[in-house]
Formats: sequence, C-alpha cells, structure tokens
Amino acid sequence: MSTTELERIKWLRQELHRHNYLYYVVNQPEISDYHYDMLLRELEMLEKKYPEEYDPNSPTQRVGSDVSDQFQQADHRYPMLSLSNAYSVEELMDFDRKVREIAGPNASYVCEHKFDGVSISIEYRNGTMIRALTRGDGQRGDDVTLNVKTIRSIPLKLIGTGYPEHFEIRGEIFMPRRVFEVLNQQRIQNGEKEFANPRNAAAGSLKILDSREVAKRSLDGYFYYLLADTDLSDSHFETINRARSWGFKISPYTAKVESIDEIIDYINYWETQRDELPYDIDGIVVKVDSFRVQKELGFTAKSPRWAVAFKYKPESVQTVLLSVDFQVGRTGVVTPVANLAPVFLAGTNVKRASLHNYDFIRNLNLHLGDTVMVEKGGEIIPKIVGVDVSKRHDDAPAVVFPKTCPECNSFLSQNEGEAAIICPNEDGCPPQIIGKLIHFTSRKAMNIESLGEETIAMLYHQGLVNSPADFYRLTVAQLSRLERLGEKSASNIVNAIEQSKQTPFERVLFALGIKHVGETVAKTIARNLGSLEKIMNASEEELLAIPDVGPQIANSIRQFFSNPKNKNMVEQLIALGIKTQIEQISPVMNKLQGKRILATGKLQRYSREEIKETIEKYGGIPVTTVSKQTDFIIVGENAGERKLVKARELNIPIISEDEFLTMISD
Ligand code: AMP
Ligand code: ZN
Repeated sequence: MSTTELERIKWLRQELHRHNYLYYVVNQPEISDYHYDMLLRELEMLEKKYPEEYDPNSPTQRVGSDVSDQFQQADHRYPMLSLSNAYSVEELMDFDRKVREIAGPNASYVCEHKFDGVSISIEYRNGTMIRALTRGDGQRGDDVTLNVKTIRSIPLKLIGTGYPEHFEIRGEIFMPRRVFEVLNQQRIQNGEKEFANPRNAAAGSLKILDSREVAKRSLDGYFYYLLADTDLSDSHFETINRARSWGFKISPYTAKVESIDEIIDYINYWETQRDELPYDIDGIVVKVDSFRVQKELGFTAKSPRWAVAFKYKPESVQTVLLSVDFQVGRTGVVTPVANLAPVFLAGTNVKRASLHNYDFIRNLNLHLGDTVMVEKGGEIIPKIVGVDVSKRHDDAPAVVFPKTCPECNSFLSQNEGEAAIICPNEDGCPPQIIGKLIHFTSRKAMNIESLGEETIAMLYHQGLVNSPADFYRLTVAQLSRLERLGEKSASNIVNAIEQSKQTPFERVLFALGIKHVGETVAKTIARNLGSLEKIMNASEEELLAIPDVGPQIANSIRQFFSNPKNKNMVEQLIALGIKTQIEQISPVMNKLQGKRILATGKLQRYSREEIKETIEKYGGIPVTTVSKQTDFIIVGENAGERKLVKARELNIPIISEDEFLTMISD
C-alpha cells in the first residue's frame, strides 16, 4: 500500500468527520453537499481497495450495513430510569421544596426540553464511539450501535479536548416532524402502514435490522446527560456545555435558572412555542444542577429525586362536527373522516379529523352538529376525543355508517373479528382499482414515475386503463389526446412503461398488490420460490416454509391467485413480457444456488457489503439471523457468540472464510 494513499484515508476520515459536524451539529457547512459526496466517495473507494484499513468508526460506516445481529443485549453500567412527572405548578413547588431541604436556599436548576423520542445511552472510549444501547427495561438494553452510527448528528469521533477517557452520554433520538411526514407519505404510496407519530417512527426505525435502511430515515437527536466515573465539574449545565464542545448536539434552549418562577416562565414559554420546533416535545425536564446535590437526593426505585418532568397536556379545542365522509382506500377499507368547523390547534388550522372505524363512531354516539373535543396528541391527524352532549340539538341525526359503498354501491361487509368495514367489490370499485394501479406504478414497485396519480385516475376514468396490463397497451396517440398531456410527455410515458418490463421479478411480485405482501416479504418469497409460476401454484405448506411467511400471508397469496380475474391479469402481464422469475444466474455462478448463508464477524477479504454481494452473485441468499433454514455460517474474527451457540444447537455447519473461498472457486 502506498503511504500517500494511507495518509489520504486518514485525512479524508478526519475531514469528513469535521464536515459532518459542521453540517449536522452546528449547521454551518463549509463545503457544498456535492463536494462532501465526492470526498465520501473517494474514501469509500480507498477503503474498498484497502480492506485491512477497515475502521468501524469511519464516516463511510454511516451508510449502514445489513449484517446485523438480531440485537444483542447488554447491561447498562448505570441503570436508565424514568422520570417522575408533574402536571401542575403545585407539584413543581413540592419538588422545589424537597430539593431545597437538602440544597439549601440557593438551588440552581437546569430546564430542558423533554424530547419525545427514544432514549439512548452511548459509550465513548478515547474519543471514539464504542457502543449504543437503548433503554430496554432500564437494566439491560439492545445494542443498536450500527444503527446509531448512521445518525449524522451523532459523533463517531470526538473533537476538542478534555473529554474523559471513558464515559457514557445519554440523549434522545427522534424523527424530525418534516421527515416523519415525508416518510408516512411514502409509506402510504407503497401500501405500508403509517406510523402514528414521530416517536413511533423513531422507535421503529432504530430497530430495523438493516442499518442501511436506518440510514435513510434521517433520524436526529439531542444529548442531555453525561456519566463518567469522575465528574468534570459539579455543574450539570457546565458539563453538557463541555460535551457540546466535543461535537455533541446539545439543545440551544437548555437553560440554567435559579428560581421556581423562572422554571414556570420557561414552561409557559415553551407551551406556546413548542409547535414552532422542528421536533416534538411532550414536556419540560427540570434537573438539579449540582451533581453533589443530585447525589445527596439520590433515587427512588424508578426515578431520580433530583429531576422532574413537567408534562404538557395534549392541546384540545372544541368545534362543531359538520359532516362525515366515508373514504374507500386501495384495500377496500372504508374510513370515516370528520369534517369540522375550522379551528386553530397546535400550530395548524384543523378542518378534518380521523374517526377510525365504525366502533369508534358508535362508542362516541356521534351526531351531526355535535360539539366535539378535538385533540392533537402525537398523531399528525387530530382526533375527536369527546362529545359535549349538553350542546346537542334535539333533532340532530346520529351519524350512521352507510350500508353500501359510497363509490360503487356494493353492500359493505366486515370480516370476523376485525373492526374494519370493507367494500368487497375489489375489481369494480373505482378508488380500489385506481389505488391498485397507483401502487403498481409506484417507485418501489414498477417505478413508472412519469405516470402521476392524477394521470392514472384520468386514464381510468377515460376507460383506457382498468388493470395493470392495460398500461402496456397504451399508445402515444391515446395518451396525447388526454388533456394537459403533450406529444412529448406522452411518448416519455410510453417509453417509461416499456422500460418497466425490465423491473426485477421481486418488485413485480410486490407491484401486484397482494394483501399483506409488502416490499420485503415479496423479495423473500421471490427469492425462495424463484418464479411466478411456482408462487401461483405453491401449496400452503410450501409458502409457510418461507421465513417471515405466516398463515395470514400464505392465505392471502393463495386467495389472490385463486381469483380468476387476478389470474387473468397476471397471465396478460406475462404475455406482455414482464419478468416472471428472479434473474437467471449463469451456470458457473450458481454454486450456492438457494443456499441461505449467514456471515458473522469481521472477515479478511470481504467487507460486510462485499460478502453479501458475493453470496448473491453465486446464487445464495444472505441472511442475518440463524434459523433452521440456514444452510451454513461463515465466521470471521469476533463472531457473534450467540449466533454460534445457536448454530451448534441447530447443527448448522460453521465454516471459515477460506473454506468458503474453496467452495466458490472452480
Ligand atoms: P418517562 O418515559 O415519561 O418516564 O420519561 C423519561 C424519559 O424521558 C427518559 O427515558 C428520556 O428518554 C426522556 N427524556 C426526554 N428529554 C429528556 C431530558 N431532557 N432529560 C432526561 N430525559 C429526557
Ligand atoms: Zn366500493
């Protein structure tokens, strides 16, 4: 290896860490995003060339890796407790009185936002991140280090000086509201379930096994407590300010105060201003500033006595229920939505609220014209939480759920044990058909992006497209006759549709829109059964043998293909030339055909990404957890002990990297 390249690697890492900090923590970038990407790419290239220079804390590791342990657990060095709550000024004064009994009259406090996310405890040694644990049960947490490393505002390497050789820092990881909204929109488009609120989205994201996916979630975080064997100062406020100088993101709104009045001012101020923040807070945390006093106050079994969380009540307003719409989605579920007299709530003008389902309406005994209480909890769409029955007019009609579909007049039905009411007219109900067509063309399915949702609806209403196969028969002439579509965009669309025939089979399967078959499940099924033909004819047993496929999914697949209409649609698609099997692997390359292989630990010749690619290249299926279905395990240095134990229990062959090489070489 040339020393200049080695130096370059070191320099790039240092530079990238620095720019990362400037961009994500202090918001003062010095270079363009493009320039940053170029530096990162150069580093990636060099690291590929010199795998022996692997560094788990290199800025390139931020993009994540899919080799993840099913989250090992580890003990917290210091338990992660909860906080006692206060909901009133009286409770706060009570807290203040108890503190002053010990601290004397001059107690100082630190007021902080109570971030509504997922708490995290991160260990650093010699200025390098070594481990990140979730709270878990407070005593033991999940090791989510790989995922946390993908969060750009969390330092992998510290800057500045004076940090303890070894310490733990605690904070909250959250999903900024804007990111959350975009993510949910994408999920709706892909037919996935929405997250109820940014906190759930953050928690869900942090537990994704594939950290490359986590990297895409744009999580962020703030830190609010430092734990070291010896304190740096007696002041919590001073300590976190020093942590800020090492590159940690500390809220600029954290404030040191001297009296209960100042605490109340802080709480009142943020109660009205919190909607302006880019993230959710659900209260204010008040902490005693002096560590000496903190130690004297100590802990109860559940929480420290030196801190209290003042919780904001969810904001709620009264307004009038004007009418109820019943919307039909892609899967036929009918959702009632309330139209309200517009009212200002938590920073937005609210006109609509979700009513969830029939039971919800019945339980509230909702009448038209009712005065209702609307709340904005964590959810983005506000909800109706109560009715002021005293304001109801005598002649107000009760809200009734229609018996027939508002879109197609079919009789609605309800599946045993499910709250949802559905329109069963799958192939005749316009919003269901249009929804399925939109799903078919969506980015993660056939990816025909030039076809917007409106165009699709138009094509349907004009009688040009009724089933996905119809897309492939559209002509430029037909399209350009549609209003607003010129010759040029019409021919672009036709090209894009033609192009989509090259979409890999895994995504074709997802595009079909089979209930419960999401993007990942589709991939797994495609790779396991190999072709559409096999999937169409698979028995329940064959389907259940596929990892991640349970009775619900198996049933749904069999039902889908037993419907003659679906079968016909799929046959047309096949005739039109879409891909119906996973890419053929050339004969020399299929040495690992269908084998489920797990790699664990650090390998000599391959990075995590490369071993995965190699397994796939030879027809194998890289997996991340040990199960009965695993064919063998390749072990490297520091392999996960639990995996090995499990592998031995299940009698799964464990091989070395060299043995693997022999296996795939001629
Ligand atoms: P709770 O779960 O309601 O008992 O509240 C305790 C949790 O609040 C902690 O585990 C943290 O995840 C979270 N939290 C948010 N902001 C802060 C903060 N500034 N200081 C301490 N904990 C916080
Ligand atoms: Zn219908």
